[in-house]
Amino acid sequence: MTTQKITMGADGRLNIPDNPIIPFIEGDGIGPDVWGASKLVIDAAIAHAYGGNRKIEWLEILAGEKAFNKTGEWLPIETLDKAREYLISIKGPLTTPIGGGIRSLNVALRQELDLFVCLRPIKWYKGVPSPVVHPENVNMTIFRENTEDIYAGIEFSAGSPEAAKLLSFLTNELGAGKKIRFPESSAFGIKPVSKDGSERLIRAAIQYALDNKLPSVTIVHKGNIMKFTEGGFKIWGYELAEREFGDKVYTWGQWENARKTQGEEAANAKMKSETAQGKLIIKDVIADNFLQQILLAPQDYSVVATLNLNGDYISDAAAAAVGGIGISPGANINYVTGHAVFEATHGTAPRFANTDTMNPSSLLLSGVMMLEYMGWNEAAKLIEDALAATILSKRVTIDFYNLMKDATLLKTSEFAKEIIKNGVMEG
Ligand code: NAD
Repeated sequence: MTTQKITMGADGRLNIPDNPIIPFIEGDGIGPDVWGASKLVIDAAIAHAYGGNRKIEWLEILAGEKAFNKTGEWLPIETLDKAREYLISIKGPLTTPIGGGIRSLNVALRQELDLFVCLRPIKWYKGVPSPVVHPENVNMTIFRENTEDIYAGIEFSAGSPEAAKLLSFLTNELGAGKKIRFPESSAFGIKPVSKDGSERLIRAAIQYALDNKLPSVTIVHKGNIMKFTEGGFKIWGYELAEREFGDKVYTWGQWENARKTQGEEAANAKMKSETAQGKLIIKDVIADNFLQQILLAPQDYSVVATLNLNGDYISDAAAAAVGGIGISPGANINYVTGHAVFEATHGTAPRFANTDTMNPSSLLLSGVMMLEYMGWNEAAKLIEDALAATILSKRVTIDFYNLMKDATLLKTSEFAKEIIKNGVMEG
C-alpha cells in the first residue's frame, strides 16, 4: 500500500486515501502515556474494521517542550507547515510556555490554520460518575466560534499609554467616555464579532445537524446586553438559516412571525407540524439561561452554536454534567479548507508524567472524532462501543477508580489493552 495525503476536493469534500499520512503531536507531561494508549487502540480498531485494507501512516511533528528541547522553538515552522500540508492532525496536551513570545501553542495553531470551529461533543457514557441525576439526557454537540470575540487578544492594561489613547478616542470621538465608571484606572478589551465569522460558524453547525439528522440548532448569545456583537450573532444566524437552508429548517423567527399574524395557537401548531416533518429547528437562548437549562432540561438541546467566550464556559460546564471533564474530546476545524486538529481537552498534568496512570479517553475519543471526520465510521464506532463497555465493566484508570464503587484499577496501557479486548480488535 502506498501512503498518501488527505486532500480537499473541488467539491468541498475530503479525499481520504486508504493509507493516509496523519501528523501527530504526542504532547508534554502525560501526553506520551495517553497518546501511546490512544494510538494502540486507534490502529487496532482500523485494522479490525477494514481487515487490513486501511491503515494510518503516523508522522510525528514537534510542538511544546519536546520541540523546544530538540529545536529551541516551541512551535517550529515545520510543524505548522506539516499540519497545513496534511490537513488532519491530532495532538496531546501541550505545556503553555511561561514568559515566552507565544501566548498559547493551542491558540497559535488555531490562528495559523484559521480553525474557526471548536467542536466539543458532550455525551454521557453509562457508568461514568456524574454529579447530575440524569446524565443520560445530555447529548449535545457544541460549535464554539474559535477566532473572534474577546479572545482576539486586543487588550490594553490599566494606566498604559494605549489605554489613555483609547479612552481619549472613546471620549472625544465617540462620545462614550461617560459610560466608563472609573476611566483613569480602566483596562480595556475589544470584542470583535463579524457577520462573516458568525455565519461560517453557524453554517457549519447547521450543516452538521442536517448531516447527522439531529433535531435542533440552538444559537446561544448575550444579545440582550451586547446588542451588536452577540445580538448580531443571533440575527445573522437566523437570516443565514432561512436564506441558505430554506425549507430544510424552521426558525423561531418564523414562529414569531406566524404568532404575530395568525396567533399563538396557530403558530404552535405550525411549529409542531414542521418538527413532525423532520425540519431542523433553529432556536436561540440567552447564555445565562442556557447554563441553567443544560442542568434543568438538557434533553431540549442538541447542536449548539455560540461565540468564543460563551463556548468556553458552556463546554466545560456541560462536560462536567456528564462527568466527562477528564475524558471529553475536542477538535478545531476549518470546514472550508478541511484543516482539522483533534485534541485532548485536558492539560499536561505534569505531576503524573510517565506514571502510566492517567485516563487516555479524552485523546482516544478525539481520535474517534477524527475517524468520523474522515468517514471511517466503522472504526470509530468500534472504539466508542469498546470504551463504553470497558467503563461499564469498572476496569478503569485512577480518576474513575476513585469515584466508582467496586472498580478495578488499571494503568493507562492496561486500560488501552482492555478496550482492545472488549472491542475484540486483537489479531
Ligand atoms: P491539567 O488538565 O493538566 O491537570 C489538572 C488535573 O486534572 C491533574 O492534576 C489531574 O488530576 C487531572 N487530569 C488531567 N488530565 C487527566 C487525565 N487524562 N486523566 C486523569 N486525570 C487527569 O491542568 P493544569 O494543571 O491546569 O495545566 C497543566 C499544564 O497543561 C499547563 O501548562 C497548562 O497550560 C497546560 N494545558 C494544556 C492544554 C492543552 O494543551 N489543550 C489544556 C489545558 C492546560
